[in-house]
Amino acid sequence: MWTNSEDKALRERAEAVIPGGMYGHQSVRLLPDDYPQFFERASGAHLWDADGNKYTDYMCAYGPNLFGYGHEGIDAAYIAQMKKGDTMTGPSGLMVTLAEEMTRMVTHADWAMFCKNGTDATTMALMIARQHTRKKTIVLAKGAYHGAAPWCTPLKNGTTPSDRANQVFYTYNDVESLEAAVKEAGDDLAAIFASPIKHDTFVDQEDPAPDYARRARELCDETGALLIVDDVRAGFRLARDCSWARVGIEPDLSSWGKAIANGHPLSALLGSDKAREAAAHIYATGSYWFSAAPMAAAIETMKLIRETDYLERTQALGQRLRTGLDEAADRHGFALRQSGPAELPLIMFADDPGFSKGYAWNQALIKRGVYFHPWHNMFICAALTDADIDQTLEIADEAFKVVKEAGPLPPVEKLAILATLSD
Ligand code: PMP
Repeated sequence: MWTNSEDKALRERAEAVIPGGMYGHQSVRLLPDDYPQFFERASGAHLWDADGNKYTDYMCAYGPNLFGYGHEGIDAAYIAQMKKGDTMTGPSGLMVTLAEEMTRMVTHADWAMFCKNGTDATTMALMIARQHTRKKTIVLAKGAYHGAAPWCTPLKNGTTPSDRANQVFYTYNDVESLEAAVKEAGDDLAAIFASPIKHDTFVDQEDPAPDYARRARELCDETGALLIVDDVRAGFRLARDCSWARVGIEPDLSSWGKAIANGHPLSALLGSDKAREAAAHIYATGSYWFSAAPMAAAIETMKLIRETDYLERTQALGQRLRTGLDEAADRHGFALRQSGPAELPLIMFADDPGFSKGYAWNQALIKRGVYFHPWHNMFICAALTDADIDQTLEIADEAFKVVKEAGPLPPVEKLAILATLSD
């Protein structure tokens, strides 16, 4: 029987000692009411909340879980290195090995720098582009997420206009708007940032159009600016290379994080020779950036990426889920909007502007042990099985029934806050 008394008690205690009770993307404030805030353990493709409720988890910690929580081989490498030495006065030799492995796997990359969070990597990319070009302006897709530093955090609270100076925005996949943004940057263009796919929240995902990706490359080549692909979220989930290898375009820099150490804290910036000199001349560091154990975990993760069929498997599992959900929706008279690659699915309801059907459905799913997200792309991990998908589809069927029986619902009130947050 699903209960949440422990989660409620923790939330109450959190209110006293954690600002807002919880912050950032893992706050459940904007999710349906019964989403648990606190978790107790995770294994493979499953997650247990603080009350012991078990979920088949389709969020994968927002990306880090690629091969399954607590993967034996990866964690054994991590633990062995922990025992030898983790955070030391300098890096271990594993840093060099990992840089060799990642540059071998990612076609455009000749060098690697390591850090902790995706934001560290995107911020270094920004600095290297400005150092390389000695120019200031960056061109970015409107609505794309690149992290939570003052230059890119989606909420402007606590930042100043000067934190975001020298930025011009374009619409993802829209060549004309990209060209217009580059024109506006004039002779001050340092970089074009691109997400590997359009994976913004609340809207359908889009694959990169080949002409858009090609034009971004050309514009950088014409102006001397650097092309940056932010692969923090999608990296190694779409390809065993930079995600834009899928459209045949090589960036100058790519930022990585999340899945590269299967949940152990590590991120990376990869670059081509063109940007090497500038990369060697920025000052970037952190107390934990060179810890050896996460690098040992990453080396093991790279091995699994190279040697297993995880990619084809997650794609096939995602496709089965997608097809099964469409069939179940149809049986109950609903239509879903499923967008993006099957292994990075975003699932919303057609004809649901107030998100009421989506919230009711997700709420019914969570209470039955399936952790989906109503407006952020989800993730398929390699530990998921066909039996998990079968069970998810059965539960999804029941959840559609619940939504149907509920009839028309008002727009989700807690999402009204979004209108006040954007410009
Ligand atoms: N870029 C993208 C595309 C991301 O999805 C994220 C994290 N969601 C980041 C950058 C920032 O990564 P982190 O939260 O590790 O700083």
